[in-house]
Amino acid sequence: MPDHSHQARSGSGFDKSAFAVDWEHQRAICLQGAVSREWRGLRISGHDYIQVKFAKVGCLACPERSRCTTSTTRPRALALPPTRELREIQTRNRLEQQTQDWQQRYAIRAGIEAALSQSVRACGLRRSRYRGLARTHVQHVLTALTRNLTRIADWIAASPPTRRRSTRFHALCTATA
Ligand code: SF4
Repeated sequence: MPDHSHQARSGSGFDKSAFAVDWEHQRAICLQGAVSREWRGLRISGHDYIQVKFAKVGCLACPERSRCTTSTTRPRALALPPTRELREIQTRNRLEQQTQDWQQRYAIRAGIEAALSQSVRACGLRRSRYRGLARTHVQHVLTALTRNLTRIADWIAASPPTRRRSTRFHALCTATA
């Protein structure tokens, strides 16, 4: 997933990628040169993270504070992937996601995802309505047919109306006007 933090979305904030991480000494260093004070394991929504916190005194006095955190009283904290390897993969993937090549490939995948999602949500494809492979196969074929008919109907509804040919009289009026 891309970094959805407000720092990343603002385009000028100090998001996670702006912090150097020293895994050996279990600390992070910010763009102002401050070194973190706290490093501990954390579990959020069933996932493991490393929580890194900076010193409150330093963060409160920092001239770049507004680019780093919206909190008025607390220091900056980061939730990092639990290992160096995972952070490197995450950083690499997020950079790659910004390239045109990646976005073109993802557009294809997004189309496939949308097709699957529609089949599951609108046509109930996650469950078989019948017993036995042969009947289930019939359900799949009918679902695919339905999907194609829906697409054709959507395409017809979205097609722009054909332009009427201009009559000679209309062309004459337009030319003299
Ligand atoms: S607010 Fe704290 S962590 Fe952020 S740049 Fe300033 S000193 Fe560094």
